[in-house]
Amino acid sequence: MKKICKNTLKVQFPSLSANEGMARALAGSFIMQLDPTVAELADIKCAVSEAVTNCTVHAYRDTVGEIYMTFKCFDDRTVKIEIKDKGCGIEDLSAALTPLFTTDRENERSGMGFTVMESFTDKMRVISKPGRGTKVTLIKKLSPISAT
Ligand code: ATP
Ligand code: MG
Repeated sequence: MKKICKNTLKVQFPSLSANEGMARALAGSFIMQLDPTVAELADIKCAVSEAVTNCTVHAYRDTVGEIYMTFKCFDDRTVKIEIKDKGCGIEDLSAALTPLFTTDRENERSGMGFTVMESFTDKMRVISKPGRGTKVTLIKKLSPISAT
């Protein structure tokens, strides 16, 4: 049976580091309508914050560009969040998805962002075109609401 989308939110903001916390808080606020557990809330906020930070520090490195986010929640308690940029794109996606891989050693990055996004969600999809940009899709199904 096809799941039904119950609510949507679309936002667009510049890749300023001040907006990372805003995006994180927005993700938390959006999923509150599903009455998440404390752990689910923390996982989603953390995954979103990694994706948005990547737009700021990698996609639009040395410049400021737009970040596009779409939030959706479905009747089966699935949350889908897309984080998109029109920045530099990723040359070698399979390398980028490997734990500890980073192109930014000079700023002491650990190369764990995608690994965090993957482990804190049920599904992560990344589409990227060099010179065009990157879209990260995060999907997480929240646990059923307990009766207590
Ligand atoms: P950390 O997230 O631990 O601070 P990191 O950002 O380097 O380090 P990941 O988030 O796993 O690690 O990303 C791996 C690599 O993928 C980055 O070093 C960068 O080269 C590339 N990358 C990730 N997101 C983007 C993006 N939106 N645009 C361009 N390149 C990206
Ligand atoms: Mg990162």
